[in-house]
Amino acid sequence: MNKYVPVIGLEIHVELKTKSGMFCQCANGLHEAKPNSQVCPVCLGLPGALPVPNKQAIDWTIKIGKALNCAISEHTKFDRKHYSYPDLAKGYQISQYDEPIALSGYLEFGKNYGTYKNEEKKFRIHRVHLEEDTGKLIHKNNETLIDFNRSGIPLVEIVTEPDFTSSTDVKMFLEELHAIIRYLDVSEADLEKGTMRMEPNISVKIAGTEGLPNYKVEVKNINSFNFVKRAIDFEVARHIELLEKNETPKQETRGWDSEKGITYSQRTKEEAHDYRYFPEPDIPPFNFKKEYIEKITKTVPELPKEKMNRFVKELHLKELDAYILTRDRGMSDYFEKVLVHIIKENKEAGIEQKVASAIINKRVSPQLSEAQFVAKFLEIIKPVETDTALLAESVGMVIKNNEKAVAEYKSGKETVIMFLVGQVMRQMKGKADAKTVIEALKEKL
Ligand SMILES: [Zn+2]
Repeated sequence: MNKYVPVIGLEIHVELKTKSGMFCQCANGLHEAKPNSQVCPVCLGLPGALPVPNKQAIDWTIKIGKALNCAISEHTKFDRKHYSYPDLAKGYQISQYDEPIALSGYLEFGKNYGTYKNEEKKFRIHRVHLEEDTGKLIHKNNETLIDFNRSGIPLVEIVTEPDFTSSTDVKMFLEELHAIIRYLDVSEADLEKGTMRMEPNISVKIAGTEGLPNYKVEVKNINSFNFVKRAIDFEVARHIELLEKNETPKQETRGWDSEKGITYSQRTKEEAHDYRYFPEPDIPPFNFKKEYIEKITKTVPELPKEKMNRFVKELHLKELDAYILTRDRGMSDYFEKVLVHIIKENKEAGIEQKVASAIINKRVSPQLSEAQFVAKFLEIIKPVETDTALLAESVGMVIKNNEKAVAEYKSGKETVIMFLVGQVMRQMKGKADAKTVIEALKEKL
């Protein structure tokens, strides 16, 4: 196995949750709408229809680029990418070719962030560009139906460098990217609905050799992080098997069969696609002022990694708990909101960790309203007041009824005391503090 090194790059598509289309006013986000009901002359590419770019989509792509540590291009434009496929009514897709909105970013892991404890890892992002989504083909009973509702929805494509050497790294990266996109509030990034789709490019090279292998296999549109991991593991093993027989794996596009846990050949990919790119003549190029980019940069919120570090440093949460809480922006916001109220009532040291644990272990349901959560939490951490008369009575009764245990305790088997404590607690229906019960028992014994 160590003779070979996997070389993996990723393409990730994210549908933006703008109100309308990328170049038209068709509604976006109506996943349940009747097929082909959310279409117009622009997104169907009817003659004479003119595209008008969606400002919100452009701003959000800049925002994503910034969150991924990219350089934002001050000059950018749209291009036509030509290909013939039934899901593309116009015969071309409006995309970006040589001047994407964002370039050269990265995400970093390590120092207790992600899967790595001490090892630091950095994965580079090649580019982030904006395009329009295509229609959806639905294959049923030997027929193929087309739904164009999705065509023309703003779609951001994030392309990484081939920096990954393991499926574990890929999964960690994708989970982080997903969390970031959700923090930015620009996409549902819902894997099941297909508003986030992932395509790994996979090849394998001999360890120690320079450059990239002379082939790569792309696995199309996978919709779960675990499936991406499994598809990569499957492909890497398949490539090694071929390389061991002195064969080069075919350059091709493959699909993922989640039921069988295998990939299958879809089409053999030509070396270079001739998409006949040229600048979109109906949309003038963009020149962003520095101030404009700065204004959008300010809308990038505190991201999961920064938030986790703050929770550890300022609230003294355990690293793992801070990591879990910050995976989801809604969850971390909820934690901070209830904490503000709880701290007003209870200033004991470590209260922040107690609140975090209660949420993570669902000891108090994070589904409750904030006020309900605060009330419930304060109730469960309140010390139990012990009824002393009832305690004396219960202790007496338990000692009388458990002669054998009492004898064992007196003969030196001290752990038996916990059995007796349990008996007393039961007598008192839990309304007693365990420490007080132990003291009372020991005294009486
Ligand atoms: Zn439209």
